[in-house]
Amino acid sequence: MKSKTYIEISEVGPRDGLQSIKTIMPLEAKKNWISTAAKAGVPEIEVGSFVPAHILPQLADTAELVAHALTIPNLKVAVLVPNLKGVENAIKAGAHKITIPVSASETHSLKNVNRTHKQMIDEIENIMRIIKTIPIDKRPNFEGGISTAFGCTIEGKVSKNKIIELAVSLMDAGCDQVGLSDTTGYATPNHIINFVKAVKNEIGDQNLTGLHLHNTRGLGLANVVAALDHGITTFDASLGGIGGCPFAPGASGNIVTEDLVFMLNSMGYDTGIDIEKLLSVRTIVRDALPDETLYGFLPDAGIPKGKYYGD
Ligand code: ZN
Repeated sequence: MKSKTYIEISEVGPRDGLQSIKTIMPLEAKKNWISTAAKAGVPEIEVGSFVPAHILPQLADTAELVAHALTIPNLKVAVLVPNLKGVENAIKAGAHKITIPVSASETHSLKNVNRTHKQMIDEIENIMRIIKTIPIDKRPNFEGGISTAFGCTIEGKVSKNKIIELAVSLMDAGCDQVGLSDTTGYATPNHIINFVKAVKNEIGDQNLTGLHLHNTRGLGLANVVAALDHGITTFDASLGGIGGCPFAPGASGNIVTEDLVFMLNSMGYDTGIDIEKLLSVRTIVRDALPDETLYGFLPDAGIPKGKYYGD
């Protein structure tokens, strides 16, 4: 069995999950979800997104959630932002990590944030000017997340060169690192390996360590296994697999945190997450969202009896 390697799980359900469903989860339930997940050992939680409330009323309480999450010891508090205004709010709230999504597909970018690539990069340069005024020990980590990196429901295929070009522009604009998002669930294992290797080759191994995968076509965990062999150490996932993208028609379902943790733990990776405690978080989400479908195989089938690590 391989020696234990730490793999970081970022729970994105409170952001990616909740933004794609109509039901608004009450603030108290969200706080409870975040606290209980952190207690189960989840090291990073994307608690919301600083977007105007009229666009995503589901996430209107993001500032309150950041404040709550900051009271939890050792939890990395992450948020998503669409623009400079969002960054200002995220900094004011005190988020540790800020991700700005940039669509690889320009059509998706225009639909999602009403900006071309050039305009997004200009915006990021302006953002970095603000971030650099913050003392270095208090600066949030700033990530450029390339969304629809593996395919777009509108434009279809996204070329590798396009992704490399965007990743280089994001690093040149001052991002701390780049992430790749399979927003539409188009990625396959070979695709992941091919793109991850190419991007790492161009911007440096340490500047691409995270993937945001969806399980739209059932290949989420297969894609994780492919990525593990190529230096990816952070995976986004959402409890119960809720999530998708409201601007990518047909896209649904992040990889399921429970299934992901079960697989990684059983492969001998160290996630720091207690799977039984994690499964109990599901009750909070189910009770708060009784009309939503929760996905996941492990929660239905249960943890296998006895040793399940294969050693
Ligand atoms: Zn997503």
